[in-house]
Amino acid sequence: MATIKLKQQNVSEPVRAAYVGKPKKKYDWQWAKLRRTILYSQPVCNVCGKNLSEEVDHITPYLSGATEEQRTALFWDMNNLQGICKQCHIEKHREGKRRGKKI
Ligand SMILES: [Zn+2]
Repeated sequence: MATIKLKQQNVSEPVRAAYVGKPKKKYDWQWAKLRRTILYSQPVCNVCGKNLSEEVDHITPYLSGATEEQRTALFWDMNNLQGICKQCHIEKHREGKRRGKKI
């Protein structure tokens, strides 16, 4: 399901690779490294400030970029990333869906 959705939205290869299966090794490694950097620098959830960060969240949804360049830039921008706990991440996505936004 997620794969089909991402394909329809025509996201760039690195974005797709990081989120959907069959990643290209290079991007996979790049994302893993970035993710680790964020989680190290923000060990506590940036949203609730209570739980440990378990995931990395895009503050501005990268799919909100108008062009592929913008989406790719949003995706890899360290200033657009925050450590987040699982609970807040789920909440954020739920909230976004309610408002009809892509996350
Ligand atoms: Zn949290």
